[in-house]
Amino acid sequence: MRDQFNRPLHDLRISVLDRCNFRCPYCMPAEQFHHTYEFFKTNEWLSFEEIERLARIFVSLGVKKLRLTGGEPLLRPDIDQIIQRLSTLEGIDDLALTTNGALLALWAPKLKAVGLQRLTVSLDTLDREIFSHMSGGRGHLEEVLEGIQAAQAVGFKSIKINTVLQRGVNDHTILDLVQHFRGSGHTLRFIEYMDVGNQNGWDYQYVIPSQEIVGMINKRFPLERIGGTEGGETSERYRYKDGAGEIGFISSVTHAFCGTCNRLRLSADGKMYTCLFATHGIDLRAPLRAGAGDASLKDLIRTTWTQRQDHYSELRLQIRQQKYQEPKVEMYRIGG
Ligand code: SAM
Ligand code: SF4
Ligand code: SF4
Repeated sequence: MRDQFNRPLHDLRISVLDRCNFRCPYCMPAEQFHHTYEFFKTNEWLSFEEIERLARIFVSLGVKKLRLTGGEPLLRPDIDQIIQRLSTLEGIDDLALTTNGALLALWAPKLKAVGLQRLTVSLDTLDREIFSHMSGGRGHLEEVLEGIQAAQAVGFKSIKINTVLQRGVNDHTILDLVQHFRGSGHTLRFIEYMDVGNQNGWDYQYVIPSQEIVGMINKRFPLERIGGTEGGETSERYRYKDGAGEIGFISSVTHAFCGTCNRLRLSADGKMYTCLFATHGIDLRAPLRAGAGDASLKDLIRTTWTQRQDHYSELRLQIRQQKYQEPKVEMYRIGG
């Protein structure tokens, strides 16, 4: 199944809820997301049965990789149960979860036991104060570091550590992170700050082009490029020449990789989005709850994918110059 630019469907990212225990200013700024903010009600979330049924249909259409995300996925009660269900699906090569790590120490043993294969933990800095600021005053660095250790202790290997970089905020702490994770077996990945959603006040002046970071790290720890985004990967991969492992760079702003983008996103309320910067989602929950059969849900997904023309990152500057811009889906709703 190919879209209008001949891209196959391969990855599905499933957001299990839109709530979060952090308020990272680049994702859910605390001023907008205060105590009266209306998140989805729990009956609006897809149930685990509904997620499993949809995942099965997606797999029959070519999906090989599933990633659970949020909001913060470890806040969804009984998250282990949906992982257990998904881990038994035939045809899945990879089952992963992205978390801010705050609750990971609690969950790690269960996640491993029910068959989660890989973990991504977001960690923007090792500086306590900056960490607190970048989690909206809600996060504690120690908890995240303990979470990573606990995950490692129960057998998660090659954990991906995602770091969003913002100029003037955490760029002076890059080398500390590099030093900490070099040789650990885990892969640090620097992400360019993106204009996801409509509320984070994004401006290009806060973006640090990955090439700048590669240059900086290379001076201290010589790097060698080992792979790019050709096969549908989001990161440019490098290795340390001294054998201390890998490091990655996700450059959605300065080096768009739409040409190979094979990802589809499902929000917690059952909408399907064909791009991280989409302005519209296709509702799967309504037909599901109205009793639609697998064949008609499959048709709806197939039609949506085969008509897909998204390539926002390649058009970013052009779109941002337009006077009227349609609101985009928020990151905390589709989970990156
Ligand atoms: N709460 C979980 C977490 O933070 O890992 C999962 C959901 S979060 C939306 C997924 C990823 O998106 C995180 O690694 C986060 O750093 C990244 N992210 C959020 N807003 C971003 C932005 N404006 N630019 C780049 N990455 C962003
Ligand atoms: Fe929460 Fe993750 Fe968004 Fe931070 S990036 S506010 S942890 S959903
Ligand atoms: Fe895929 Fe949209 Fe990102 Fe391009 S901008 S890589 S189409 S999610």
